[in-house]
Amino acid sequence: MNRLRGFALALGLFLSAAGASAAGPALDVSQPGSDGLSLTSHFEVLEDSSGALKLAEVLSPRQAGLFKPSTGNGQALGFSYTKSAVWLRLQLANPGDQALERLIEISYPLLAEVDVYLPDPAGLYRVTETGFARPFAARPHPSRFYVIPLALPAKSEQTVYLRLKTPNSLNVPARLWSPEAHARHERAGYVTQGIYFGLVLAITLYNLMLFLALRDLSFLLYVAFAASVATALATFTGLGAEYLWGDLPAWTVVGVNVPSSIAAVALLLFTRRVLDTSLLLPRLDKALRLMVVVNLLCVPMLVFFFQRFAPLFVVLNSLTALLLLLVGVMGAIKRHRSAYYFVAAFVVILLAVVLTHLRNLGLLPTNVLTSEGTQFGSAIEMLLLSFALADRYNTLRREKARAQREALRVQGELVNELRASEQSLESRVAARTAELELLNRKLAAMSTTDGLTGIANRRQFDTQLLSEWTRALRLHQPLALALIDVDFFKKFNDRYGHQAGDDCLRRVAHALASTVCREGDLVARYGGEEFVFIAPASDTAAALQLARRVSAAVRELAIPHADSPSGVLTLSIGVASCVPHPDQQTHSLLAAADRALYRAKEQGRDQVQSGEVEP
Ligand code: GH3
Ligand code: MG
Ligand code: MG
Repeated sequence: MNRLRGFALALGLFLSAAGASAAGPALDVSQPGSDGLSLTSHFEVLEDSSGALKLAEVLSPRQAGLFKPSTGNGQALGFSYTKSAVWLRLQLANPGDQALERLIEISYPLLAEVDVYLPDPAGLYRVTETGFARPFAARPHPSRFYVIPLALPAKSEQTVYLRLKTPNSLNVPARLWSPEAHARHERAGYVTQGIYFGLVLAITLYNLMLFLALRDLSFLLYVAFAASVATALATFTGLGAEYLWGDLPAWTVVGVNVPSSIAAVALLLFTRRVLDTSLLLPRLDKALRLMVVVNLLCVPMLVFFFQRFAPLFVVLNSLTALLLLLVGVMGAIKRHRSAYYFVAAFVVILLAVVLTHLRNLGLLPTNVLTSEGTQFGSAIEMLLLSFALADRYNTLRREKARAQREALRVQGELVNELRASEQSLESRVAARTAELELLNRKLAAMSTTDGLTGIANRRQFDTQLLSEWTRALRLHQPLALALIDVDFFKKFNDRYGHQAGDDCLRRVAHALASTVCREGDLVARYGGEEFVFIAPASDTAAALQLARRVSAAVRELAIPHADSPSGVLTLSIGVASCVPHPDQQTHSLLAAADRALYRAKEQGRDQVQSGEVEP
């Protein structure tokens, strides 16, 4: 009441109580109840299509008779978009014997002009002019809604007139309150709004952070959607004018519909991205794109042709909602996970709208759920869409993780394959190397072994003779050598055959090897039926002794030889030994043995001779 700074005009007109109250019994204001009293059915209505009628004219008997009883019985009188000014007449009675204070609250901030005519004790009408076209500070009660205080003296009646005009949809949700009940109700309303806007602010900031961190446009679209819805609701609830932008009548006109069309654009684009409609639902995607353009065009249309375009916009907005619901349902049918959240979100908001409508029609009781239903619905919708976003993010992350795992797996497989092929290559190389080594050893053995007899060959003999010669030279030790020749072997071959000759050579070689077997000794086939042995650290006497043992060993073999004087196979052996001198060569030792052998042959074979090494 202190802030009552509205225009208060003494109109100089007497209240014609009789004329005003003729329409019906006055409303008893003594018991408005803790939830207030809906005034919808108690108004009498005069629609002034010219918008120019003054109170004096309205009070004139001609006009006064044109007031019609309200046909509405819900929470609000509705006139939709109208150019008319609407006059409401309300007759109030205080039958008690105490003066009463009451409040009329019109909980719809989108009324541009709300002129309240109250009679003063003298019966003169004083006007309080409020509405969003008037300064906020002029409101008789500082509130987001239009609240008009009334004083009703004991046992009195009075007639109140309201004149309403607005470019927006003209709704009049009016209730009568006791000041205490209204204060409680108002506080609860602000708390509810605080919770809603706090929630939206948190979700919006959170998703803005996510956008900045993740750089996914979906988050920004979500932020645009949530912020636009919050702006529209800030206008719609009157909180924007009260706390944010103050007196901005031009904005308040479009402040619900323009943010709604921006919210629609954001939500359409958001849906396209989150549900992948271009892939999932290509035909509906075209409709979504069309609706984006339509809603964008709505912005200038609303700004420049508000009154003519606003009704069409309501239809377009409903179409957008239906299209989004359809896309959600189709997406859910196609088992897109995010679509479930979409459908849930739209079902919740539709449910909220239906609840609000049913309450406005008087079919549901007024409580927090029905009166703030849109807000609850909007909050839950935002939460669900935020879940859809989180789910999409999770899905993308899972897909990425799966792709990374797959890449790692393939890489691992490749590495394993590479390792396996490397291993098989290595083992093959190792096998081949082993084969080669074996072959090399065989070759080496072959190159030093005589094929027929298996003892050392001439090459091995030459090598060993040189190394033993060098060693004996170094150690000043004697080195003995024997040349062995089979007697009459040509005849043996001739008589017994070449095969028998070979067998015979093998047996002789074996006997030789078994006899000359001291460490360092070497027995070799020198060529044809000639053999040789080297005996290191042996002087001529020792060599002669060894040669005789060889000769005896072969004789003991008793290989029959009919063309030999003794009847068995015999050997002739020439031995030689010397302590090598640096001036001498190995062939001097060989030559000495050869000479000794020659002598053995000459002197009748089957004997051992020794020879002197020439200096
Ligand atoms: P001598 O008592 O004078 O040594 O008489 P010989 O018949 O042994 O004489 P000679 O040394 O001239 O003959 C060697 C013979 O040895 C000639 C050849 O037929 C035979 N002979 C040489 N190498 C082989 C061989 O590998 N296998 C066989 N079966 N006979 C061989
Ligand atoms: Mg010979
Ligand atoms: Mg011979």
